[in-house]
Amino acid sequence: MAKIIVLIGAPGAGKGTQARLLQERLGIPQISTGDIFREMRALDTPLAKEVQAIMAAGKLISDDITYKIVQDRTSREDCRNGYILDGYPRTAVQAAQLEELAKEQGFDIQAIEVDVPRDELMKRLTGRRSCSVCGEIYNIYSKPPKSDNVCDFHPETQLTHRADDNEESAATRLTTYDEETKPLLDYYQRSGRLSKVDGTGESEQIYAQLAKLVTG
Ligand code: AMP
Repeated sequence: MAKIIVLIGAPGAGKGTQARLLQERLGIPQISTGDIFREMRALDTPLAKEVQAIMAAGKLISDDITYKIVQDRTSREDCRNGYILDGYPRTAVQAAQLEELAKEQGFDIQAIEVDVPRDELMKRLTGRRSCSVCGEIYNIYSKPPKSDNVCDFHPETQLTHRADDNEESAATRLTTYDEETKPLLDYYQRSGRLSKVDGTGESEQIYAQLAKLVTG
């Protein structure tokens, strides 16, 4: 059942956590454009500097640059039986570009919305911390690490707070989601390719709903 699974949800909805679980447990590679851009930021190139500035402000990288990155990454061997996209597409143009890519690669698209009420998202974003070694995601309010500000699996590593999880950038990212990405829910709904999971509650409960949709 080769397909592209597209996870759609506001920043802070938990797409990353769930995509990582799907990858670990079902062996489907998880491609996060946000993670790829975060890695790119560390390079010393003009493009890396541009990416860094756009991300810090909570805005979107251009559709063409993003497409190139997705095209490159998904042409690797590990994606030959399908893959999960976390954070892509985010605009109508990206959705159209993905249709072309899916056609070329011979995959169907299954879109799944991870739905979380707006009032919870801000808390999740500003409370989010992660481990720079293994990528484990914590939240100081809802999923704190066992010891203060260090990873449970890498106790020598201080957790990091994403530069774009400050209140101002987080608010911009939520507005961008409403304006640019939310309309994609309608787009996939109209073509009968959208399902939805409740993104509140325990991570395992959310995963159970998702895994059923992905494998069903
Ligand atoms: P995320 O980790 O998915 O929240 O992404 C972090 C940031 O990376 C976003 O706020 C954007 O600046 C950039 N980014 C990630 N995915 C995309 C995308 N599909 N299109 C444009 N920019 C993106």
